[in-house]
Amino acid sequence: MTCLEAQSKIIAYIDYSLDKDDRKEFLNHINRCADCKEELNIYYTMIEGMRQMDNNLPLSVDLTKQLDNRIYRELKSSRQRKDFFRSSILIVMIGVLGFAILAYVNFLNILHMDEQNRMKENQGEYYFSEFFDERLFVPSEETKVISINLDESVQQDSFYDKVKQHNMLKK
Ligand SMILES: [Zn+2]
Repeated sequence: MTCLEAQSKIIAYIDYSLDKDDRKEFLNHINRCADCKEELNIYYTMIEGMRQMDNNLPLSVDLTKQLDNRIYRELKSSRQRKDFFRSSILIVMIGVLGFAILAYVNFLNILHMDEQNRMKENQGEYYFSEFFDERLFVPSEETKVISINLDESVQQDSFYDKVKQHNMLKK
């Protein structure tokens, strides 16, 4: 804000009719610029003094001090708002960062588990394929039938043998 802009806003400032952003810029300029501060002081003393007289209020002893207090108060409250805004942003950023780290760790875990599973599968195939492949993966419909027949024939044989042996003993 230039001195010309600041000085054009002095009366609006005194009347509390600047919006928030304008007031903040105005006060920042007043804080740095002795000329504009002096100008504001003159207008303030005049306008505020006349207002107090018009309303039959007891005239403030030190209008300059009153103005300084007002500027200090308003600057402080806008600074507090800024701090609050900053800390809100900080909290949000920490939240986002935490979430990103969690997501990344999760992602690494998934990768790791995937790798482990693949290694296990490979190991499993490597170590157990000779042992299990025949039993698990070769369809054994035929061998079952054969083995059942074999078992029965063995039993029949042995039963037949026993009968034979029995008969032979009887003779
Ligand atoms: Zn100035």
